[in-house]
Amino acid sequence: MNKNNKIPKFSFSWLYLIIGIALVSIWMFDDGNTNQRVKKSYTEVEDYIRNGYVEEISVINNRILEAYILKDSAAKVFDKPIIDGTRPKVETTIGSIDNFDNFIRQQRESKDGKFKGVVNYEERQNLWGELFWNIAPFILLIFVWIFIMRRMSGGGGAQGGVFNVGKSQAKLFDKENSSTRITFKDVAGQEGAKQEVQEIVDFLKSPQTYTELGGKIPKGALLVGPPGTGKTLLAKAVAGEANVPFFSMSGSDFVEMFVGVGASRVRDLFRQAKEKAPCIIFIDEIDAVGRARGKNPSMGGNDERENTLNQLLTEMDGFGTNSGIIVIAATNRADILDKALLRAGRFDRQIHVDLPDLNERKEIFGVHLRPLKLDPSVDVDTLARQTPGFSGADIANVCNEAALIAARNKKKAVDKQDFLDAIDRIIGGLEKKTKVMTQKEKEAIAIHEAGHATISWFLEHANPLIKVTIVPRGRALGAAWYMPEERQITTKEQMLDEMCATLGGRAAEECFIGHISTGAMNDLERVTKQAYAMVAYAGMSDNLSNLCYYNNQEFSFNRPYSEKTAEMIDTEVHKMIKEQYERAKELLREHKEGHAKLARVLIEKEVIFAEDVENIFGKRPWTSRSEEIFGKNDKENSEATDDTTVNGLQENNVAE
Ligand code: ADP
Ligand code: ZN
Repeated sequence: MNKNNKIPKFSFSWLYLIIGIALVSIWMFDDGNTNQRVKKSYTEVEDYIRNGYVEEISVINNRILEAYILKDSAAKVFDKPIIDGTRPKVETTIGSIDNFDNFIRQQRESKDGKFKGVVNYEERQNLWGELFWNIAPFILLIFVWIFIMRRMSGGGGAQGGVFNVGKSQAKLFDKENSSTRITFKDVAGQEGAKQEVQEIVDFLKSPQTYTELGGKIPKGALLVGPPGTGKTLLAKAVAGEANVPFFSMSGSDFVEMFVGVGASRVRDLFRQAKEKAPCIIFIDEIDAVGRARGKNPSMGGNDERENTLNQLLTEMDGFGTNSGIIVIAATNRADILDKALLRAGRFDRQIHVDLPDLNERKEIFGVHLRPLKLDPSVDVDTLARQTPGFSGADIANVCNEAALIAARNKKKAVDKQDFLDAIDRIIGGLEKKTKVMTQKEKEAIAIHEAGHATISWFLEHANPLIKVTIVPRGRALGAAWYMPEERQITTKEQMLDEMCATLGGRAAEECFIGHISTGAMNDLERVTKQAYAMVAYAGMSDNLSNLCYYNNQEFSFNRPYSEKTAEMIDTEVHKMIKEQYERAKELLREHKEGHAKLARVLIEKEVIFAEDVENIFGKRPWTSRSEEIFGKNDKENSEATDDTTVNGLQENNVAE
């Protein structure tokens, strides 16, 4: 039946061909009888007429003048010999037809006028040109129409078209068509999350053991965590472990410019899934559709998104717990999701997928180092230590980047330095050695960075320094790297010490250069945010102790506190920052010589490490208090825990 289904498909190449032919024919038919035709200026042509070279004249459309040249005079007009059997002519444009007529009359009337030929006035139409201009707008319209069609079908190429707008664009990873099945083995770390999803795997494998006991299996699970932590990977692994098909779609794919498309795509997705059940539907970035409804103050809200969300809720209620479809969604912000999504029977299960800690990073490195050819100098342990705060995706990126760097340097194996370079690159953007810097600027930056380094060295709770550099990277001019102690909670002392160290750059500028610069802007921004968070969220100031004004309702403009409190928050923030700034200046004055030495070494070497600082200032005098009480091994434990987060405010370990 399908055999002679060979009508050529309409495609862009056809259109191009048609237009091409049209253009070529216009050009060819335009003036086909031209043999020897030369363009000249009007004055030249007048001279030819005056000198009697011209045999006959045609005036076309009152604008174009064609003058046929006498055979004998041709040599005076043309550079090339004329071809036999042709009538050579020159062509020009007439400025004013009246002037031309006067000129011809003069020629004819005066005694010594040499032009005796005829003048033909013609109306000539360029048929093809006219035709072209008549159909061009239609061609343009067709172009635009086709373009829109293709856009609407999501770039679907051959099988796209306007009729598929409402179809879901879910990607299907089937047992058959996926060559590499992802299992839990491919997901390093994330033991807690894996355990939680294990239940889903069991259910998909043998649903009856659960339903026989009358148990209800969750219909949906929500993976919550920062980008790149392996949420997609985990969902795929669930499908792989249970050996069921996996539909993957991003929340933003539902949202289109047409009303009703999102809802219809949701319906279509679930219809497809029901055919393939048991299976997993994975919706990435569900916040694109699942944001809390009706809180958006912008006019009228986004009805289309609400419709989509409503449809999603309806579909999830519509299938029974035993229909074998499980929806796994991912987001990095569970707090902005609509409450209806999180109710029992929908995404009632939240699984946290966090940034990996030290040991997990080691495991993830293990996974991604496997395909690389490694030099024995590479040590997973140090790599993991050098990458606090990195996500799984960042680590995958480091490994890939290291391999690229090694290849660029034509090495046989990827060695330690390649990895360190890759890490640097990912932390700070590309190194910009070519950025010009005057000696004065360099000194200023060195003094600034040495300020950070000096202060963090002498504060008990500040993060230990790894290295300081004045090599510009990306937009930052210099940077100090710290090894954040990995910890779950942060004390007030730690935060104040870090604030003091961050202010150290500006303080050093004021103390040792005498004027302050914009170089500290980034530092100040961080300090201000930090102080605000400490006062308003963490209840860490004297006057507003133990109060948290954190507000997770995104679109509410009402502050949960009074004007007076707002003023108080401001005052407390000012006070806190001022105190730390004074403290920084005092410390710097105290260690003036050391700071100056440090700045000099920085200018000389551009990059200095903790050892260099130790050579100048001596060993850091602190052992941590917990070490005193519990002994040394507590340190290792604390390093194996997570990076510092306070109320969701991730601290950055690079100070500019
Ligand atoms: P998310 O969906 O959370 O943004 P992905 O699942 O897309 O993150 O992760 C991106 C990539 O990062 C993965 O393809 C994988 O290579 C790597 N990755 C992330 N987490 C892990 C992990 N725990 N183990 C191994 N690789 C990981
Ligand atoms: Zn700084």
